[in-house]
Amino acid sequence: DHSGTAPADDQQPPADDSHLGAPLVELSGVDKYFGDLHVLQDIELTVRRGEVLVVIGPSGSGKSTLCRAINRLETIDGGEIRIDGQPLPAEGRQLARLRADVGMVFQAFNLFAHKTVLDNVTLGPRKVRGLSKSDAEEEAFKLLDRVGVKNQAAKFPAQLSGGQQQRVAIARSLAMHPKVMLFDEPTSALDPEMINEVLDVMEQLAKEGMTMIVVTHEMGFARKAADRVVFMADGQIVEEATPEEFFHHPRSDRAKDFLSKIL
Ligand code: ADP
Ligand code: MG
Repeated sequence: DHSGTAPADDQQPPADDSHLGAPLVELSGVDKYFGDLHVLQDIELTVRRGEVLVVIGPSGSGKSTLCRAINRLETIDGGEIRIDGQPLPAEGRQLARLRADVGMVFQAFNLFAHKTVLDNVTLGPRKVRGLSKSDAEEEAFKLLDRVGVKNQAAKFPAQLSGGQQQRVAIARSLAMHPKVMLFDEPTSALDPEMINEVLDVMEQLAKEGMTMIVVTHEMGFARKAADRVVFMADGQIVEEATPEEFFHHPRSDRAKDFLSKIL
């Protein structure tokens, strides 16, 4: 609410974050090396419940590694990552639980090729959440309906378009009832005409209050759905701003240079 004094001309009004909850994903002092390459450098980042964070930056800047570290697909060499207040577990049942809490959709379609769409979506809930086949299927049909591919349930991934496969991947993640969803360039491998059908589903999720970390260069999505944009370069968070601020008034030369190339 902007009922207070008007901001000075050279200042951005404070972003309205009243819809956001407590910290859900917290990275503090996170370092990661691949050999000599310092791929994540002292990363400080907090994502609050209900927040949609868009991560943007040049290829090789560490965006995927950041996502993979949050999902514990990569170990880190320093610092700490907490999900809902809990440090990331190293292994075992705890790790399976964490993976359920942190859904992830990748750039490349990562469905099980030899299972039907329905089986792709029910497998995790049956194994990890302990649902019966019929309960898992009932929920799967609802989720597939929500992402617009209910009538594809009996097909195998290869029989679907890329956009449909990505929507199934989103449904499969949602079936685990994640606390946060990570999207790593989910539309960058898609033919242009399929990009919007996936972004629409993501936008809907954002509207429904899902906490999301989204690596994407899709400005339209960022403008409509993001609460905050983080710009990464060379393993560092260089800039953090609202989408409006970032796209119209990038502060750093790195960000200006990057935006001039993609816009
Ligand atoms: P982005 O997603 O921003 O393009 P990545 O996180 O994929 O960046 O990669 C960051 C850097 O780390 C790149 O230089 C990449 O080559 C390197 N890298 C990524 N994964 C590995 C790995 N498993 N082993 C060695 N280097 C890696
Ligand atoms: Mg990447």
